[in-house]
Amino acid sequence: MSNSIIIADQDTHFFSDVCQNFDHAAQFTKHDAGLLDQIKSCNSVYRFRFPIRKGNGFEVIDAWRVEHSQHQSPTKGGIRYSEMVNEDEVMALAALMTYKCAIVNVPFGGAKGGIKINPKNYTVTELENITRRYTVELAKKNFIGPSIDVPAPDYGSGEREMSWIADTYATMNPGQLDAMGCVTGKPIALHGIAGRREATGRGVAIAARECVSVGEDMQKIGLTPGLSGKKVIVQGLGNVGYHSAKFLSEFGALIVGICEYEGAIYNADGLDVETVFLHRKTTGSILGYPGAKKEFKNPMEGLEQPCDILVPAALENQITLANIGRIQAKIIVEGANGPTSPEAEAIFYKNGGIIIPDMYANAGGVTVSYFEWLKNLSHVAFGRMNRRFEENSNLNLVNMVEGITGVALSPVQRASIIKGASELELVNSGLEDTMIRSYHEIRETLLNNPKIGNQRTAAFVGAINKIAVSYQNLGVWP
Ligand code: GLU
Repeated sequence: MSNSIIIADQDTHFFSDVCQNFDHAAQFTKHDAGLLDQIKSCNSVYRFRFPIRKGNGFEVIDAWRVEHSQHQSPTKGGIRYSEMVNEDEVMALAALMTYKCAIVNVPFGGAKGGIKINPKNYTVTELENITRRYTVELAKKNFIGPSIDVPAPDYGSGEREMSWIADTYATMNPGQLDAMGCVTGKPIALHGIAGRREATGRGVAIAARECVSVGEDMQKIGLTPGLSGKKVIVQGLGNVGYHSAKFLSEFGALIVGICEYEGAIYNADGLDVETVFLHRKTTGSILGYPGAKKEFKNPMEGLEQPCDILVPAALENQITLANIGRIQAKIIVEGANGPTSPEAEAIFYKNGGIIIPDMYANAGGVTVSYFEWLKNLSHVAFGRMNRRFEENSNLNLVNMVEGITGVALSPVQRASIIKGASELELVNSGLEDTMIRSYHEIRETLLNNPKIGNQRTAAFVGAINKIAVSYQNLGVWP
């Protein structure tokens, strides 16, 4: 595995890393030790196995669903399809979901699922059988439902899997009006929402843009404010990595490096994300891309090239003691969950770097999942009731202004002023507002108590305080 993206294994102690970060942050809060323990613990860990037919025989599949915290209902989080998935990892990711939702003010508890398979080794029919059976197993134990626990896509799963889950759940619950709210990240044609697919990457790009927009913070690390011309390396060209790179370049950044399993490419003058993506799709590899000035068979070398911002958007445990000394970026934006080990993180801070932590940086996905869930519960698409009304009001206003001033707007100007908001525009507006507000909440927490030291701890402090209030409101704790 030395020349490939490092895959997390049983030894990563990912959950204890998350708890360590939690404990460190808890010192900056004033809550009762018992309450802190309740917030930190995984409430329910369901491990199960089920058989599926494969070839002429059967195979037993290992699977998990962890509900970390029910301080809000439903619990929420993706399902990871990976042959390396293990209980520790699912627990850690479920815990991160709890904190993530609190940070972006999404009223859910955290959860995560795992199915221990490499999807590439299964036919579509087998994947469908696995996904449907997984859903049945969850339903049997009351681990799924629009008000209980709502899965979503994660590493190795996407819209197709979510539609199988929705259909299985709806079949098992005939007549349940809100059945489609049992899972998010569904295809738009099956009660999904515009903008969900690109939401995590868009959120990552907004998080990076917000961070570099603060002049005084940039001055401290020797960067000019603004994304324009900032050099960015992205690890991972999956859904999160691809969309992060796409929106960062739309916002004016220069994508100078892209790393994937098979290798990494680099060009200090910038790479065109779309054509790199197409090249990989047609040839099966990012290597050999004509616009690259350098390429590396070992993808980890790609992370160490000159840049201002590094966006790890693949898996956990990518930036460790093994490579932190050679990372040249000044800002790490964690598109993936847990990509930076605590030891590497401490060194990065000592060298004056900023880390925009996973629980905030990649929260765009669950934010738009929340919008999808609201759409499913309300049974109406965003914008359906008011779009035409807005357009008519705007039209009246434009006609009136033109009449009074005698100035006629061009057809393009008229159209852009009159236009009512579409579902996609409303979703993107909600996402942008959430990411911007949450960034400044974290930054304020840090400014109010500089001893907190960094954004990850500040994000945890904010999350702990909000979750504590939920428990207090439930009347469970003083
Ligand atoms: N799997 C994504 C995450 O880790 C999305 C979760 C969701 O939409 O519920 O945040």
